[in-house]
Amino acid sequence: MSDTSPSQGLFDDAISRLDLAFPYADIGEEALAKLKKPKEILEVAIPVRHDDGRLEVYTGYRVRHDDTRGPTKGGIRFHPSVCLDEVKALAFWMTCKCACVDLPFGGGKGGVVVDPTQLSLFEIERLSRGYIDAIADFIGPDRDIPAPDVYTNATIMGWMADQYAIIKRVKAPAVITGKPLALGGSLGREDATARGGVYILQEVAKDMVWDYGEVTVAVQGFGNVGSHAARLLAAEGFRVVAVSDVSGGCYNPQGVDVAAALEHVKASGSLRGLPNSEPISNADLLELPVTVLVPAALERVITHANVDRIRAKVVCELANGPISAHADEGLRQRGTMVIPDILANAGGVTVSYYEWVQNKAGLYWPLGEVHGRLRRTMTEEYRRIRQLSTDHRIGMRIAAYAHALRRMGRAVEAGGTRAMYTG
Ligand code: NAD
Repeated sequence: MSDTSPSQGLFDDAISRLDLAFPYADIGEEALAKLKKPKEILEVAIPVRHDDGRLEVYTGYRVRHDDTRGPTKGGIRFHPSVCLDEVKALAFWMTCKCACVDLPFGGGKGGVVVDPTQLSLFEIERLSRGYIDAIADFIGPDRDIPAPDVYTNATIMGWMADQYAIIKRVKAPAVITGKPLALGGSLGREDATARGGVYILQEVAKDMVWDYGEVTVAVQGFGNVGSHAARLLAAEGFRVVAVSDVSGGCYNPQGVDVAAALEHVKASGSLRGLPNSEPISNADLLELPVTVLVPAALERVITHANVDRIRAKVVCELANGPISAHADEGLRQRGTMVIPDILANAGGVTVSYYEWVQNKAGLYWPLGEVHGRLRRTMTEEYRRIRQLSTDHRIGMRIAAYAHALRRMGRAVEAGGTRAMYTG
C-alpha cells in the first residue's frame, strides 16, 4: 500500500498494527474483530454566519470508536485536511491510548474541515458553538468527552462547554476537558502531553545511560505539544538543536534558544526569521543526525519516501500517527527506537482524565499532585511496555499495542460478547 498521501488509507494503516500485536496479546479473535470497526460515526453540516454577512456551511465529524472500557474520549481538530478516514484513525488511536495507560475510557475524535487561520476570532467562536449544536446529543460526560487537538485550544473548549450548558440547561463541565482554569480546567493540562513525553524520555535516558547535555533533539511542530516539549526538554538540560512550525524550521547545532523562540512566535506569529539560527525546511529537520527526533505536528511525516534518511536514534511520537506502517518496519530494521504515539503522547488524555475526575468530584488538585500522578503513570506504563518488548524481542510499537490490546480484549470478553453465543 502506498503511504505517500497524508490521510488516504490512514484508518486501515492504523488498524494493521492490531494484527501485528495480536499474537502477543493473549485474547480471542472476537475481541480483535470488534476493535477493527468504529462503533458510531456522525457527519454534520455547520452553518456559520461570517463577519461580512456571508453564510458558509462547514462539514464536521465525530467518531466513537469503542466504549467497552468507558465513555469515549478524544480531541477536536480544526484543519482543512480533516476527513472521515483521518477522524476514524484518530478515534482508534484514542481507544488504544486510553487502554495503554489504563484510563477508564474508550476512544473518540472529532474534526471540522476548515482553515481556522482564515477566520476571525468571532467566526471561530460561532463555528465552535455551531459544532456543539450539531453534536450535542452524541456527546456527554458519561458518553463522549471532547478535548483540544490541532488548531483548537482552551478558549475554544470553554466556548464549547458553555454552549453545551446552554443546550442542556445544566452545568456539566465534565463534558469537555482542556477547558480554561476559570471554567473547571485542571492545573497542568496545558503542557501535559509534552510533559508526559518528557517523563518517558527521561526513562529512556536512564536505559541508554545518556548524559542529558550530549542528547540533541529536533522538534517538528511548535504548537501546544511541540513548544512545551522544546521548553521542558531544554529546561531539563537536553540540547534542542532544531524546532519548526508550518512556516518552516530553525536550526542551531549549538542549541536553539527555546525561550527566545517562544517570544519570537508570540511577537511575530511564527518561527520564521528567528535570530541566532539558520532556516531549515520541515523535511530536512526530520533527517537531522540527532539523538532524539520529536514529530509534534501532523500524521504521516515519515513514510517510505524518507525513512531511509531518518538518522535519529530515538523517535518520540508526540504527534498522532507521524510514521506510516511501512516506514515503521524500516525504522525497526535499522534499530531505531520508536516511542509510539499511544504511549508517548498519552500525557494529554491522562491529565484530561484528571480534569474529568475533578469536575465530577467538585474537588480540585494542586499542580504537584497532577505532576506526581502523571509521572507515575507514564513511567510505570513505559516500564511494562519495555519489558514486553524485551521479553518477546518486538519493537516498542507492537509491545504498546499488545499491552493495550490485552486490556481492551479482556474488557470486551468480560462484557460477554463470547459468552452470549457459546452458552
Ligand atoms: P497545535 O495546533 O497547537 O500545533 C500544531 C503545530 O504544527 C503548529 O506549530 C503548526 O504550525 C505546525 N504545523 C501545522 N502544519 C504543519 C506542517 N505541514 N509541517 C510542520 N508543522 C506544521 O496542535 P497540537 O495540539 O500541538 O497537536 C500537535 C500533534 O499532537 C497532533 O498530531 C495532535 O493530534 C497531537 N496531540 C495533541 C494533544 C494535545 O493535548 N493537544 C494530545 C495528544 C496528541
